[in-house]
Amino acid sequence: MLLREVEYVRPASVEDAVRLLAEHDGARALAGGQTLINVMKARAASPDVLVDLNRLEELKGIELGSDGTLELGAMTTYTEVTESAEARARPILGEVCAQIADVQVRNRGTIGGNVCSNDPTNHLPPLMVALGATMTIRATGGERTIDGIADGRRIVLGHPKTRESMRAGLAMYFVTLEDGALMDIAERIVSALEIEHFFNIQLVGEHVIEVNPRISTIVYQEDLNLPYLGIKSALGEISPEELMQLSAQVRPTRRALRYFDQVEWDDTSSAAGTQLPPRS
Ligand SMILES: Cc1cc2nc3c(=O)[nH]c(=O)nc-3n(C[C@H](O)[C@H](O)[C@H](O)COP(=O)(O)OP(=O)(O)OC[C@H]3O[C@@H](n4cnc5c(N)ncnc54)[C@H](O)[C@@H]3O)c2cc1C
Repeated sequence: MLLREVEYVRPASVEDAVRLLAEHDGARALAGGQTLINVMKARAASPDVLVDLNRLEELKGIELGSDGTLELGAMTTYTEVTESAEARARPILGEVCAQIADVQVRNRGTIGGNVCSNDPTNHLPPLMVALGATMTIRATGGERTIDGIADGRRIVLGHPKTRESMRAGLAMYFVTLEDGALMDIAERIVSALEIEHFFNIQLVGEHVIEVNPRISTIVYQEDLNLPYLGIKSALGEISPEELMQLSAQVRPTRRALRYFDQVEWDDTSSAAGTQLPPRS
């Protein structure tokens, strides 16, 4: 079956691609096209605009860092992974990519397309989970984040806020938010992942970019101290219901400043000079 008529754009930068995808509700990224073009032909998807990522050099390539971190660009093909010396740092990657379909699919299909296809039969999503991979997501829109404490089923205390740009070196300002939609997203993630204890969820626009099993900032105010409450909760000294009652203390529009937390002092005790074991 022939394709329906569709607009086609080939942006020259990732910023342009992200902007185009945000501007058009019916826009879809085009990577290797090995899934997307087929579903368009079958009329299972009918995007209005195809945003072709194939010119974006920034999204291509495989890099092995000196610390052993392996970085794969979203537009890296399966064949490039199979043939890459760097990718052999995780031999299973090349072994799996070499098994995918046929030469044409392997030459065109990309890492990003495979994990973004939402196809449960694709090879790469479970492999990436098994390897502990993380994804870098680019999107438009403001950054928001939520720190909190959960009990394995629900959020018992959530602290949503903006995630503002750097203002002075590493120091950052935030504004606490009253953001029901952000709380709903966090609530769904907490329940699906059965998160217990601290969590931090970060969004850019509507896209979740990170879910961490810890809080990102020590939220401390006179009447709300998340680390302290989290430890009391872990020790069973405060109940989820009592934590929930403290939600009123998360007051929107408050200004917050984040900077490194560090305390130093001269150790004059007799144990001074004793070598402490290195931190793991
Ligand atoms: C005959 C055949 C057999 C196949 N067998 C297998 C198999 O055994 N195992 C397997 O894992 N796969 C298989 N596939 C699927 C193949 O691996 C596809 O290449 C893959 O699913 C999609 O990758 P793509 O680069 O072609 O993406 P595309 O088809 O271009 O895009 C797929 C989806 O991802 C989105 N997308 C792509 N890149 C990005 C990005 N960077 N950011 C955001 N969204 C993005 C697109 O908008 C689209 O919705 C097969 C495909 C064919 C045609």
